[in-house]
Amino acid sequence: MSLLYVVDGGKQESSAPIVAKFGGTSVASAEQIQKLAAIVRSDPRRRYVVVSAPGKRTPDDKKVTDLLYLCSHVAHEGVDVKPTFGLIRDRYEEIARDLGVEGMTEILDDVEREIIAGATEDWIASRGEYLHARLIANLLDAKFVDAGECIRFGPDGLLDPRSYPLTNQHLQGEGLFVIPGFYGLNAEGKVKTFSRGGSDVTGAIIARAMDAAVYENWTDVSGLLMADPRIIEGPRPIQEVTYRELRELSYMGANVLHDEAVFPVREANIPILIKNTNAPEDPGTRIVQEREPDENVIIGIAGKKGFTTIFVEKALMNLEHGFGRKFLEILDHFNIRWEHAPTSIDSMSVICASEEMEGKEQQVLEEIQLILDPDRVDMLHDLALIATVGIGMAHQVGIAGRLFAALAEAGINVRMINQGASEINIIVGVEAPDFEPAVRAIYKAFVKEEG
Ligand code: ADP
Ligand code: ASP
Ligand code: MG
Repeated sequence: MSLLYVVDGGKQESSAPIVAKFGGTSVASAEQIQKLAAIVRSDPRRRYVVVSAPGKRTPDDKKVTDLLYLCSHVAHEGVDVKPTFGLIRDRYEEIARDLGVEGMTEILDDVEREIIAGATEDWIASRGEYLHARLIANLLDAKFVDAGECIRFGPDGLLDPRSYPLTNQHLQGEGLFVIPGFYGLNAEGKVKTFSRGGSDVTGAIIARAMDAAVYENWTDVSGLLMADPRIIEGPRPIQEVTYRELRELSYMGANVLHDEAVFPVREANIPILIKNTNAPEDPGTRIVQEREPDENVIIGIAGKKGFTTIFVEKALMNLEHGFGRKFLEILDHFNIRWEHAPTSIDSMSVICASEEMEGKEQQVLEEIQLILDPDRVDMLHDLALIATVGIGMAHQVGIAGRLFAALAEAGINVRMINQGASEINIIVGVEAPDFEPAVRAIYKAFVKEEG
């Protein structure tokens, strides 16, 4: 079986390298790491390997990163970390033993010592990737390069663009390199992690820095699927999707790829290829700048729970100067980030992640009363948002009609509608218990059964 393939739609030079990022389940055990090794070795252009920490081997297994957060918690409570760290130690030692890799015990001892000495939460969480990159580099006879040498954050906490030349500088030379995902250094030189799932972002930064032919993201599904496989049984795979569509889907919960992973590669026109470590011959999903809209107007459906909406009604709101601005300023004042702000003539809603609102509800409502003097104000909790996405939507009539008919037929009460300004998505808000049935109803309405 050959895993070589023609790289089209991106950089054409055959010598351009490939960056291959392997996610948690792809590196969860010695058996999985053997698959990684076979994939990497099957194409000499795969020169930069980015790894996650070991993920779950079975559905009720623990991710090493979760155990490390637990370790950090235990250590900061002043409790002995050895029993918790022991679970992590066992994972690495078992993998190292099965793969015949030596030298992990000393590295694990060093990490344990630093945790006991008071390392920060980010430093502790980042060790999952660090330890695994050391182990896998050893197995592949590759050079280990610490992400701290390459990836830097600015004082605002965002990626410092100097990371690109820095990465390029540290990844010079012949042979294979293994880089841990998920972290870099902040402006003070301390380890800082990305948000969860952030190894995808590391891979994208390295692909951009090395001007890769393609950024391969190896995971446990054969690419991006039209819907979350935990909700829809056997959803149809997506062969090609644009960066914009992927961004909408991943931001809204299709967490096969971290939503921030799109930016570094999109600017450099480097295609992303999502592939399955357990079925490398499956075509996977290619993410590109442009695609021809096909007969399927909808490319995917994604959503998540955990939103709160504040609904404000006031007669003749449309005639009042600065009503929307004042509403949003109240949220700003409480440091609340918002997601959507649908308006109508006499009413306006703002939707935000419930965690943004936590502990501030009462004060926000009081301030709204005081400043906006509304006829009515309501706060609705436990809202789920569902995005139906596709570039063909803007030019096709009747899409919204089909979507709402499907939801109505399934007896689902739509609490919010927002057609994104990007014109490639329609977002609906439903109550949390309606979330899964709503996704199923939309999927059924747009995806014809095969055969
Ligand atoms: P990794 O550890 O390789 O980074 P993740 O767990 O982060 O993998 O992402 C892969 C998972 O994303 C899949 O196992 C699947 O359960 C989930 N997922 C959610 N929505 C989708 C979707 N639309 N397409 C594919 N996978 C999805
Ligand atoms: N190990 C980290 C996490 O579990 C990062 C990643 O897997 O991408 O979130
Ligand atoms: Mg992931």
